[in-house]
Amino acid sequence: MSFNNKSLINKYKDYLPISNKTPNITLGEGGTPLVRSMNLGPSLGCQRLFFKLEGCNPTGSFKDRGMVVAVAKALEKKKKKIVCASTGNTSASASAYAARYGLDSIIIVPSEEIALGKIVQAMAYGAKIIGINGNFDQALSIVRNIVEIMDIELVNSINPYRIEGQKTASFEIIDDLGIQPDFLSIPVGNAGNITAYWKGFKEYFESGKSTGLPKMMGFQAEGAAPIVKGEIIQDPKTVASAIKIGNPASWTGALEARDESEGLIDSVSDDQIINAYMKLTRLEGIFCEPASATSVAGLINLVNNGLDMSEKTIVCVLTGNGLKDPETSQKNSGFSIQTVDPNLHEILKLLKNQK
Ligand SMILES: *Cc1c(COP(=O)(O)O)cnc(C)c1O
Repeated sequence: MSFNNKSLINKYKDYLPISNKTPNITLGEGGTPLVRSMNLGPSLGCQRLFFKLEGCNPTGSFKDRGMVVAVAKALEKKKKKIVCASTGNTSASASAYAARYGLDSIIIVPSEEIALGKIVQAMAYGAKIIGINGNFDQALSIVRNIVEIMDIELVNSINPYRIEGQKTASFEIIDDLGIQPDFLSIPVGNAGNITAYWKGFKEYFESGKSTGLPKMMGFQAEGAAPIVKGEIIQDPKTVASAIKIGNPASWTGALEARDESEGLIDSVSDDQIINAYMKLTRLEGIFCEPASATSVAGLINLVNNGLDMSEKTIVCVLTGNGLKDPETSQKNSGFSIQTVDPNLHEILKLLKNQK
């Protein structure tokens, strides 16, 4: 098992609630790239903008960081089954680790709202998938009831081990930059991740690994912005399916992150999300999910409203991989493939017409 010494759990074991009874499992999660912006940041006057590419995790989203710890703890407790509600990525991650470590996974999803790539993953990994004619919040409430009556481990982010694993992304950012960023911009759905990042930043600060704390900037989609509006949204709506959540489980954690860091939680429109999503692909070569682009859309708004970020170190968390949601990409990329005969002359003609 010595190869597993490189696992996320092992790397940050001093900060994680694990013992020598916890299996040191891994699917290669964590260690994701922190990439400096080439064009988008400078176009906004931000010279030190970085993207944390969480779509590079094994199942294509940050959910793997938390899932590896949650599944390790489930194995330690000799559980045989795990269950989650999901807008897609949690189910992809849960079913991958379940397959690898011999657990059954049951996932409950809003049947009409899940991005194609994510549900395909859960199917491929062999999860038991139950679709409901309802939304994520309803799915989560059912899952909370299931674990009351069945011997099954809940692996949504209300499982504290998920938050513990996810906080390692903050450690990596500081390890890579050598210092804490001034601002951390992040999408907010169920609000587990903003809670986790803030916990991670505080723990690194307390152990002397950083000299201060970033301001946390969380962004929700306008049609799914319960925290911004201060009330539960019964029927949340947004193109960013991963954050289409009307009653976040970690609402309090998000407010604490905002208030303790003197940051903010604001909302962005679907048009602004898609604009940022397209800019990331066209200006940076980074293909993330619509939900992920919320962090960048929020930053663009702040700069347009006059916040001076020119001297600041900013990290935008890009939470998931663009391949998860091919339909949204296709809809917004704006052109189709031109097909011609396999003939040099025909192709040169087309290329000439383009420029
Ligand atoms: C889960 C998820 C989010 C939202 O994270 P929360 O912890 O629910 O706030 C954002 N983006 C992607 C891609 C996700 O999978």
